[in-house]
Amino acid sequence: MPEWPDPLPDDWCWSHGRSEPVDDDTYRVCGECFHAFQTEADLIREHNAELAEMRKRHSGEANAEIPDATSGAEIWTCPHCIHDF
Ligand SMILES: [Zn+2]
Repeated sequence: MPEWPDPLPDDWCWSHGRSEPVDDDTYRVCGECFHAFQTEADLIREHNAELAEMRKRHSGEANAEIPDATSGAEIWTCPHCIHDF
């Protein structure tokens, strides 16, 4: 893992250890780890990937049957740090 700068830049993502520039077109930024979801599609893809991992870890359990999200409005937690938006 590369050295983290000190001080950390304002656009630093704590989940990925890198700068993630935000502009007016950025869809959403996590308030906890500051990961930048540049588009709604990015958020949906990263969220559904995390769900797929969770299903693998918990296969057979009732809570493993959460369906994939189809819109960003359905996603209430950051898929990287699991903090509420
Ligand atoms: Zn986050």
